[in-house]
Parts: sequence; structure tokens; C-alpha cells
Amino acid sequence: MRYLVISDIHANFPALTAVLEDSAGEWDRILCLGDIVGYGPFPNECIRELSRLPVRAVPGNHDWASIGRLDLNYFNEHARAALAWTREQLDPDSREFLSRLKPVVMEDIFTLFHGALTGPITHYILDSLDAEENFSLLRTPLGLFGHSHLRFFFSCGTDGRVVQHSLTERSNLDLLHRQNLLNPGSTGQPREGDPRAAYGLLDTEEGLWFFRRVEYDIPAVQQYMKESHLPDYLIRRLAEGR
Ligand code: ZN
Repeated sequence: MRYLVISDIHANFPALTAVLEDSAGEWDRILCLGDIVGYGPFPNECIRELSRLPVRAVPGNHDWASIGRLDLNYFNEHARAALAWTREQLDPDSREFLSRLKPVVMEDIFTLFHGALTGPITHYILDSLDAEENFSLLRTPLGLFGHSHLRFFFSCGTDGRVVQHSLTERSNLDLLHRQNLLNPGSTGQPREGDPRAAYGLLDTEEGLWFFRRVEYDIPAVQQYMKESHLPDYLIRRLAEGR
């Protein structure tokens, strides 16, 4: 099976659309790793688009905050302002879509979660030590996560040794001999100094992973954010990719 793997869309519909167009014909199903909403100006559009596609999704901290399951005080002032806006915007269908999502999904050879298995909604996997802790909880050959908006590829062999791999465009996952933890980066608010929308492609039969990026119309999103009175800081960071 071939999967499109996306995370941290953050209500950026033009970025999501660009990813779907760029990857068209290369996947059978979508795996979405949370934070569909928050920060960005198109929460309902993103949820509507995902709900008409063959998608398996888990919730992120922003998704839960937008439906009242996580306290807004958990967030910094910019995120909090955007979440207060998002709460007002969400229509009943969007709220229901988000409320149905389970924090951890185990299926076939993969496990999906937003942050980490130690705390699916709010914890982070940022280094090999975090990865090691999470490999000890992972029961499938693959763990797919998001939350940091940074791309990661860790593996753990039968000897228990954790390796952090470089982010080459195409990687062999060796699913028979090791476990892998992968973060595709953020579709709607990348933070690696490259503002293009990030996503991953997974081929479970060939055991292959691809890191991808695609350009989208950032000024159009910024304009819409301005009109929606979302925080200036969030508008600027889209163009900087930080
Ligand atoms: Zn996020």
C-alpha cells in the first residue's frame, strides 16, 4: 500500500491542496498525524477536504484545544489567539470530525500519533533519547508522528541501537529488521527555514520512504490571515518557514 503522510496542516488549505496535487497518483490512502487546525485561516476547508478522502487521522494538541479538550493556557499568546479564533470558526461537522479522532491508531504495520507514545497529544520526539524511549513502547515496525514541525528519521535495530538518519529524499526502511520512527515535517507551517509545504510518501510493500516539499501561494494565505485578524507573528513566520 502507498500512503501520503501529512502532519501539522494547521488550517493552511492552499498548502494542503498543493501537497495533494503534487502527490496525485502516488498514494492509495492518507495518514494524517494531527494539528489539522490552529494557527491558520482555513480550518473548516481543511477538515472538509480530508473527510472526503480515504484518510486515517489522529488528533494534535491544537485540534483538541479547538474543541475544548485541552486548556488554552497550555499555549503561547499567538497560538492561543489563533485557537480562540478557530473555536469560533469551526462548524458542527468539523467539531464532530475532530472529536471522533483517537490519540493513537495502530493499524497494519504502523502506529500513528501526534507527539510521542509517552504522551500522544503533547510530548515531543526531538532527539535520539526521546526516540529510544518511544521505541520501547512501539509495537509495530513503523511509528509515524508530527508535532515539532521538524522532519526526523530514527531507526532501532534488533540490537536496540537507535540511529538518527540524515534526511535524504528517498530512504529504505528495512521493515523486516528494524523499527522506524518518522516525522514528515509540517504541511502548513514548516519550521526548518524552508517555507515550502512538507510531506512524506510511504510505500509499505517496497519498504520505502520519501521526504518531499512543494511550493504554494504563501502571500495569498498571509492576506487571508490579515483579513481574519490572526496574529502578525503567525503571518510573518509562514514566509520565513520558522
Ligand atoms: Zn503543530
